[in-house]
Amino acid sequence: MELDKLIRDVPDFPKEGILFKDITTLLKDAGGFADALDRFYEFAKDKGITKIAGIESRGFIFGGALAARLGVGFVPVRKKGKLPAETISETYDLEYGTDTIEVHKDAFDEGDKVLLHDDLLATGGTMKAACNLIEKTGAEIVQISFLINLTFLNGAEKLEGYDVRSLIEY
Ligand code: AMP
Repeated sequence: MELDKLIRDVPDFPKEGILFKDITTLLKDAGGFADALDRFYEFAKDKGITKIAGIESRGFIFGGALAARLGVGFVPVRKKGKLPAETISETYDLEYGTDTIEVHKDAFDEGDKVLLHDDLLATGGTMKAACNLIEKTGAEIVQISFLINLTFLNGAEKLEGYDVRSLIEY
């Protein structure tokens, strides 16, 4: 199945000049969803992964489904102020200003091998911050997966040294 045909381009969302890659058209297609999940599973099986961390909010969708398929737990990486218990945080630069992401302090156990997942790799700033955050907890990152990699933005350069996988590349 050609998964890229199930992605909808929405020009000028959320602001002018951005070509938004809308994954909802893939998610609502039962065959597309199952095929994407199968491919993520093929990348992730036999790697000794013990937890999946997904980045808010679109990283929760395949991140959660893949956790169930692998038989491991799921950890949400959330925007600041959303998690109710004690957290660890990481602040990173945006084009204008900064953003902060958090995980619960007790989200990982000693020796956890983590797969980090998000829907899309653009500049890599969000995922790099998530890597720093997860590593602060002492957990090890064994794979990073994306549905989409916008390769022309060279986000993978920020993630050098990690096993980075994606299903659709532009
Ligand atoms: P970045 O930190 O630049 O790699 O941006 C990645 C985050 O921004 C991901 O969580 C994406 O969901 C979102 N994002 C960035 N660019 C786009 C785009 N063109 N279409 C859809 N989502 C995007």
